[in-house]
Amino acid sequence: MAEGKCLCGALTYELDGPLSAMIHCHCSMCRKHHGTGFSTFVVGPIAGFRWKSGEDRLRRYQSSPKGTRSFCSVCGSAGPLALPGPGIAVAPAAAFDGELGIKPQCHIFVASKAPWDTITDDLPQFDAYPPGFGAHGVDRPVVTPRAGVTEGSCLCGDVGYEIAGAPARMINCHCGRCRHGRAAAHATNVFYKMDQFRWTRGAELVTEYKVPDARFHTVAFCSRCGGKLPRPSPERGIVVVPAGSLDTDPGLTAQMHIFVADKAPWFDISGALPQFPGLPPG
Ligand SMILES: [Zn+2]
Ligand SMILES: [Zn+2]
Ligand SMILES: [Zn+2]
Repeated sequence: MAEGKCLCGALTYELDGPLSAMIHCHCSMCRKHHGTGFSTFVVGPIAGFRWKSGEDRLRRYQSSPKGTRSFCSVCGSAGPLALPGPGIAVAPAAAFDGELGIKPQCHIFVASKAPWDTITDDLPQFDAYPPGFGAHGVDRPVVTPRAGVTEGSCLCGDVGYEIAGAPARMINCHCGRCRHGRAAAHATNVFYKMDQFRWTRGAELVTEYKVPDARFHTVAFCSRCGGKLPRPSPERGIVVVPAGSLDTDPGLTAQMHIFVADKAPWFDISGALPQFPGLPPG
């Protein structure tokens, strides 16, 4: 039995094993909902799924004709879905701390992965759903790049933003707050100066949640769809952009993994990027 929770702790739930699948999804909807390069979800029998708290805080957004996403209305973390039709419960693997008795099995929707996302492990890759899945992807809006400007938006599209010029850095963070806030194996955040950034639409939909015992750690999300959004930090003069919310290429790829001492036990870091147990030196 594993207990899942969102970043703020309002949503808690249990999912009994054995889990039947653990899959990395790179589709544009997962990228926007989680704010990361890919989501990792686990599947278990619906009979093994129980809410412990916070079901009344759960908000749902219909992201496609057949697809619904759930998220915590307080902190925006992606939540679980119980699907009576197929008799399964689907939850973000990162909602659970500790081992889950299963490891990631494959990457799906690799054909629609972000330009800055490089898959470095040896797991099988599928362009969309694996063969025999009996479902199809949906067409998603495509944003034509403009020179010198990087654009982004939430999952429903009601909130949009643009950034002038190049990013300062791009970092994969494996800390517990990022794992629960993004409900993903790790955050991938892009850092810009505050004056490079502006909302182009829907700023009134942006909800922020600050972790009470953190100095700075604050997440931002669209209150309608739960899509992760940039968080301008006036006290630091920077804006932290969840890379998954980008619609165009920031022209940079991740430079390092940080807080790897806190990483999810089911996630193996591959590739040659430098790894730091906590913050990088300096
Ligand atoms: Zn929450
Ligand atoms: Zn997906
Ligand atoms: Zn939205």
